[in-house]
Order: sequence, then structure tokens, then C-alpha cells
Amino acid sequence: MKALVVAEYPRDALESLAAAEGMDRVLLLFGPAAGESSRIAGHAKTYSINSRDPEAVYNSLRRVYDDEKPDLVLGVVSKNVKDILSRIAGVYDLPMSTEVTEFKIEGGKVVYKRGILSERAYSVEEVDTPAIILVNPRIYKPLDESPGEPITLEPGASRVKSLGFERKQLSGVKLEEAEVVVGVGRGFKKKEDLKLAFELAELLGGQVGGSRPVAADFKWLPEDAWIGISGKRISPKLYIAIGISGAPQHMSAVLGSKVIVAVNKDKNAPIFKLSDYGVVADLYQFIPVLIKKIKERKGS
Ligand SMILES: Cc1cc2nc3c(=O)[nH]c(=O)nc-3n(C[C@H](O)[C@H](O)[C@H](O)COP(=O)(O)OP(=O)(O)OC[C@H]3O[C@@H](n4cnc5c(N)ncnc54)[C@H](O)[C@@H]3O)c2cc1C
Repeated sequence: MKALVVAEYPRDALESLAAAEGMDRVLLLFGPAAGESSRIAGHAKTYSINSRDPEAVYNSLRRVYDDEKPDLVLGVVSKNVKDILSRIAGVYDLPMSTEVTEFKIEGGKVVYKRGILSERAYSVEEVDTPAIILVNPRIYKPLDESPGEPITLEPGASRVKSLGFERKQLSGVKLEEAEVVVGVGRGFKKKEDLKLAFELAELLGGQVGGSRPVAADFKWLPEDAWIGISGKRISPKLYIAIGISGAPQHMSAVLGSKVIVAVNKDKNAPIFKLSDYGVVADLYQFIPVLIKKIKERKGS
């Protein structure tokens, strides 16, 4: 069984290579990080393409696909990897499954699980190989780095012309790496009130993120603090959701958290069904008390 791993970042490559353990592995690393491919090329025959233009990468990848004839094309879910591999799926008529949480090869078939119903259940499915499987990030423990000699490929042709880059206003918060995340929702009446959440997060050594209305519509938080299917997927030890109703587009991105605590004044808010602990309270009354209690316990 031969697996062709396609990745934009070394970490995704190392996770996908781990997922393909026991298979004959070939790696294609694209994007600016392709320059770092010599750090990991010891694991597999490695191709590198210094372009993140999906059309250019796809046009090079086709040659690699034709040469290598993999049984499985594997990657970690990301916008560019999805774009590139859906083109491969279309041209080679391959089944493609994304947001996979676990898979195994059995008798020439790939048997895999995907989260459904906002990750409250799994759908177990199978497809014949050759197939394309995209796993969710942070499922497989990445391999250690292993130096080697990559094969550099020129990016293929592309009709997309880059007109330049514009810097986004970002705060630099790394919600994906935080052990504690305090999530704020539309239950907060105004931007200034978020100081309650920031104070709580600071006391707990955590970061503040928000639902889409808060981060994207009101712009009370920078875009990199947006949690959800269209924002960031998080898996902290503790997620405290304050004034968040629990819409599937939000919850599916936080269910990897070890413990979820919800604070909401509506006892029927859907978030309570998906939380480990629920506090039915007005946040403006409850959070100051919680902050006071934590300070007392810390002796500050
Ligand atoms: C295609 C698509 C993609 C989307 N992507 C995302 C996404 O990535 N992330 C995301 O978050 N959403 C996303 N959404 C939006 C999502 O459907 C919800 O609308 C959104 O998550 C709701 O945000 P919220 O919980 O902050 O607000 P609301 O749903 O308005 O909930 C506010 C909650 O606060 C509670 N509340 C009010 N006052 C108080 C108080 N004083 N004390 C305590 N509780 C109080 C209310 O009871 C309510 O439950 C997406 C929607 C679509 C259609």
C-alpha cells in the first residue's frame, strides 16, 4: 500500500506521515515551508514545491501522482490542501473524504470515521482504494523530524496572478495552543464588557476567543480569535463559553476540549446539552463573583 502525503506545513506532513505508518510513504510539501523539507525528508521520498498557489501545485502534483501511482492520497484538512486534492479527485475520479478522525486499511479498502451532528456522533464509512483521505489536525501524534534530501519540483502553470499581500489586523493569539480558552458570545452587551473575560482568562493563564458575531460581525475581537467552523478549531483542557448559545457552527470546533463549561442565562440554551458543566446565570452577575473567588483562592 503506497500513500502519497500532501502537506503545506512540516507539522501537517509529520502528522500525516504518522497516520500512514506501515505504508510505503511519499511526501509532497508545498508552500513557502517547502524550503524546510530537508528537515523531514528522511521519512519518505520527498518532493518540494515552493508555491502555495493551488493550481500551480496541482499541475505539479499530477506528474507526481502519475509517477507514484499511490493507493492512498493523504493530508491534514486545510483550505489549500482541500483545493488541490479536490482537483485530483475530479481528474482521476477518486473518492475523497474530509474531516476524517480515524482510518484503517482493510482488504484494499479504507475504513474511516467522520464526525457528524456537530461531532456528537461518528459516521463509519468505507471506500475502495485509490482514495483521498483528509484527517482533522491534531489527531495523529507527529513523527519527529528526520533530515533527508528532497527533490525540488518547479511549480506548474497557473492562471492565477498574485496582486500582493495585505496584512490583517491580528492579535497573535494562538487559541489552538492554549490550555484554557474563555469564549465570549453575543451575551456580552458591549465591547468594553469583554474585560471581564480577559480578566478571567488572565487569572487562569488562558486566552480569549469569540463566536462569529463577536469576532467577525461586531469585530470586538481580532479575526484570529474567532472560534468555529469558519474560524479556529480548538482543543484546550478547559473551554469556558460565556454568553454563547451553542450553535453547531461554533460547537463543532470546540468539542475537542477536555472540559466545557457554559455560562448562559437561558436554561434551555443548546450549549448546555454539549457541556460538562453548566451555569445558568447572568454573566454580569456570575463572572465578577467567579473572578473574586479565583482571586481569593490564589491569594491575590
Ligand atoms: C455558514 C455558517 C458558518 C458559521 N460559522 C460560525 C463560526 O465559525 N463560529 C461561530 O461562532 N458561529 C458561526 N456561525 C454562526 C452561528 O450559527 C451562530 O449564529 C453563532 O455561533 C451565535 O453566536 P453566539 O452564541 O455568540 O450568539 P447567540 O446565538 O445570539 O447567543 C447568545 C447567547 O447569550 C445568552 N445571553 C444573553 N445575555 C446573557 C447574559 N447577560 N448572561 C448570560 N448569557 C446571556 C443568550 O441566552 C444566548 O444563548 C456560522 C453560521 C453559518 C450559517
